[in-house]
Amino acid sequence: MDQYAVFGNPISHSKSPAIHTMFAKQTQQAMEYGVIEAPLDGFEKAVGEFIHRGGQGANVTLPFKQQAFALADQLSEAARLAEAVNTLSFNKGRIYGDNTDGKGLVADLKLQGVTLTDARILLLGAGGAARGVIAPLLSELPASIHVANRTEQRAVELAVQNPSSKLVASGLDNIEGEFDLVINASSASLAGSVPSIRGPLVADAVCYDMVYAATVTPFNLWARQQGASRTIDGLGMLVCQAAESFAIWRGVRPDVNPVMQFLRAQMTQSL
Ligand code: NDP
Repeated sequence: MDQYAVFGNPISHSKSPAIHTMFAKQTQQAMEYGVIEAPLDGFEKAVGEFIHRGGQGANVTLPFKQQAFALADQLSEAARLAEAVNTLSFNKGRIYGDNTDGKGLVADLKLQGVTLTDARILLLGAGGAARGVIAPLLSELPASIHVANRTEQRAVELAVQNPSSKLVASGLDNIEGEFDLVINASSASLAGSVPSIRGPLVADAVCYDMVYAATVTPFNLWARQQGASRTIDGLGMLVCQAAESFAIWRGVRPDVNPVMQFLRAQMTQSL
């Protein structure tokens, strides 16, 4: 059986093994997918050991995405722009790094029927996830993307790295305009908080939190209170970015819908 795994720390609650096992069954691929909790100072060694044991590929999550970027011998354009790698492929002694987060987000937004062409987009955050979604969002021809981050300088750097007349950058307290789609790519929801932006910025907008929850994420709850037209969490992005990884490794594209439905039902039942 071909071996795959997700590397992270902590990693025990990862949904990736369940997702990839369902994909493998659905597409009749002979593969196994496990979890590897690498020590915080031992990512490279753990990857080397996995390759030695016959590992074919891996997903990488917090806090190792930048280390995976540094480890790869060859990078996709998406990984280069994101400066972060979430998908590794091992072939003949070489390590290939990709980043599927952006494609996963765009795929989920389309599945949910959200219009990206001509949309005025507000992107909150400038970490690895935000960096990874800029180019895929720009390729959908939005009207504009305003990147706003708590640390303004990081948003400005992100705009410099992705030169486009459609891209504007600022701190959180300096956002002007109206938006059709607000994407929370900050990790604030994980800590139970919300990026401090003015409520009217999300009124009547579709709000998408990359974090997901069994009930509602703190950002989406806040957005509903401010009059957002709709809120979506990041469970679909998780499944869609996994499907992109799966397609890179196995050359077949799984159906994400039953997997998304299964995970959502499982999360709701756990309440
Ligand atoms: P990083 O650690 O690289 O970046 C975190 C970002 O969040 C920074 O821009 C940081 O701002 C901002 N931030 C953190 N806390 C706050 C706060 N209280 N208020 C405002 N801004 C804040 O993380 P990633 O970019 O890798 O991931 C971001 C989120 O996206 C994570 O929660 C992750 O779980 C989620 N994600 C979900 C995926 C999915 O498939 N659903 C895929 C990838 C990521 P500053 O620069 O000022 O520190």
